[in-house]
Amino acid sequence: MKNRSLWFSLVGVGVALFVACSADPPVVDARVPNVSAWPEDDGQVFGGGYETISAAQPVFVRPGEYPPPIVERPEKSPSAMYREVNVKRDYMPYGSRGRSRRRMSPRYVTIHSTQNWSRGADAWRHSLALKRGALGRISWHYTVDEYRAVQHLPTTEQGNHADHNGPGNRTSIGIEMCEHPGNSRSQTMERTAKLAAWLCVKHDIPVRNVVPHYKWPRWGKNPPNKNCPHFLMTNGRPGSKWRGFVKVVERYHQQMTGR
Ligand SMILES: [Zn+2]
Repeated sequence: MKNRSLWFSLVGVGVALFVACSADPPVVDARVPNVSAWPEDDGQVFGGGYETISAAQPVFVRPGEYPPPIVERPEKSPSAMYREVNVKRDYMPYGSRGRSRRRMSPRYVTIHSTQNWSRGADAWRHSLALKRGALGRISWHYTVDEYRAVQHLPTTEQGNHADHNGPGNRTSIGIEMCEHPGNSRSQTMERTAKLAAWLCVKHDIPVRNVVPHYKWPRWGKNPPNKNCPHFLMTNGRPGSKWRGFVKVVERYHQQMTGR
């Protein structure tokens, strides 16, 4: 008996020494969530129209709809997309001839190309020409080249780029794509597609309203519908190349909205 109790007390001392010398804190199962770290249910998850996953990523849920539909989360915020477009604001002087000073609620985005093949005819050069009044009453909202998009007019002011007093000028934001030597056409189109998608989100414009200049007939011109942007037209009118461009706009739109 004595030997046995000595054995037990030796084991006891050994365990006590092991616990005392062990430097590591007691192991806790890390998979158990810390309850206080979870946000409280504020009662708005399915009621207010938006289910807030995080502040940056609102996911749309129709009021009263339960269970909510599975919605893909937006991959990119509109402001991140806008930064990628690299917009440089360089407005034409308010009093210049090219400024209509007429208010507009944009419902379309009209895509053009400059057909200006002069060396160095990039977005900045077009901005300078517009600011100097070299193009008379002609004006549009953005010029895009491979590196940037220069903005010449607020998007809530009518430009003069499509069809004189027609709906193209009265309701659409005009974007010109540069064509000068050395400028990457594919990168210019990518940047233009991102800008068009961002404008659709900003002004709640459906992507189907991103249109080529061709859409707006010009009164008194023959042919009335311009072959513009010519490199996205097929035999002078919208075809597979234009549809391919719109698909890229759709993809960028989806990245921002998840829809
Ligand atoms: Zn045009």
